[in-house]
Amino acid sequence: MLNIDVPSLFIAMTLNLSIMSLTLPYFMGRVNRAARCAQAGIILQTTGWFSLIASSACPPGGWADHLLSTLAMACVSSGMVFNAIAFQLWCGRDVSVRLPAAIAVLMTAGYSIGFSNYAFRVGWANGLLALQIATVVVTLCRPPQLPVGRWRWLLVICLSVQMTVLACRAVLGAFYTNEFPSFFGPYLVNQIFALSSNSMLVLSMAAILLAHRDEAARDLERLATMDGLTGVLNRRAWLIQASADLANSVRYRKPIGVLLLDLDHFKQINDQHGHAVGDRALQLFAEGLRAVSRSGDACCRYGGEEFCVLLNDADSAAIMAHDARLRAWLARHSQQALGFALSYSAGVDMRVRDSDTIDILLQRADVALYDAKSQGRGCTLVSAALHDASRPQSTQVGDDAAIRPVPLMP
Ligand code: GH3
Ligand code: MG
Ligand code: MG
Repeated sequence: MLNIDVPSLFIAMTLNLSIMSLTLPYFMGRVNRAARCAQAGIILQTTGWFSLIASSACPPGGWADHLLSTLAMACVSSGMVFNAIAFQLWCGRDVSVRLPAAIAVLMTAGYSIGFSNYAFRVGWANGLLALQIATVVVTLCRPPQLPVGRWRWLLVICLSVQMTVLACRAVLGAFYTNEFPSFFGPYLVNQIFALSSNSMLVLSMAAILLAHRDEAARDLERLATMDGLTGVLNRRAWLIQASADLANSVRYRKPIGVLLLDLDHFKQINDQHGHAVGDRALQLFAEGLRAVSRSGDACCRYGGEEFCVLLNDADSAAIMAHDARLRAWLARHSQQALGFALSYSAGVDMRVRDSDTIDILLQRADVALYDAKSQGRGCTLVSAALHDASRPQSTQVGDDAAIRPVPLMP
């Protein structure tokens, strides 16, 4: 048999864990909940291993051994709960760690109560820790809610190895106690446990950092498509989505429309109330847009105080209803949130021909919007093209109404 020194391996692992606990929070910088949970998990694991090593220096079976060993079990098992939270967040899931948390409490309590019985406590603690890891592995294997990288499988491998070794230790400790009389002794299962724990620590740390990087890349991608102030799509992202949706509307013969909106007298709002209130008004307007939009609608800050919404599968009545909902929402909220009423003018256009592009729709909606401004603001007009499309063909040719937007709202 190889001459593997088990205590030295555990001490080296605890040292590595301590270094990571101390350095990760600093080098990961300002982090979100998932990364904080992963860091908390590592700190708890480190404390657990420290306690376990400290307990081995105490008289076996004494109160100090009992206390430190129980603390070790509590820390290691609750560290796994924090890791489970981080993994679920990184997979885009709602956090639900009731099962691993219940196992942690049960394991620690049972371990402390049955501490005087070596066979029981080794079987109990290792068995339940293996079970706890199994619950985390099962959750990791379920399809994530977000597209995540291969780090998930790296974690599944690490945890499965640890789970298997712990399960073996549980069986050996509980039923073959004479062949496995101490945790730090030079027995094969201890050597395998020490070696696998060391190598799996390195691998799981790589997986955690990859998960963190994955999330940062997703955040960057989201930020690149989002308007920083209002949280709706930015113009570039909206144009990409709108072009794709427009092509689909042609393919599936579905109506599609654009609502172009511009806040009224916004310069005056900035001048009278200050830029910060102006910003708040833009945020409130975007909030209203989101609140009244359906899931298929795409809201965008087109620029400055101008917004637009792409309404998929919406006829003119649906667009009209959207506009009415937004005006009602603003009437309910703007006075209270800003101290003044927020008003806007808007232009509406829809695809009337298969050859219509998003640029054409926007141009026609913009002409209608311009007319809404000229007619005194605070109203929504439909484009001339849309107005004509709803008339009999014979009236379209040479009709000067073709360039005149008409009110959508009475
Ligand atoms: P109209 O009713 O004709 O649309 O008048 P308006 O004052 O809304 O239009 P104008 O184009 O004259 O002014 C738009 C103002 O919007 C000017 C600009 O300073 C302000 N604005 C643009 N972006 C922002 C922003 O991010 N925050 C704030 N607070 N103001 C902005
Ligand atoms: Mg304006
Ligand atoms: Mg404007």
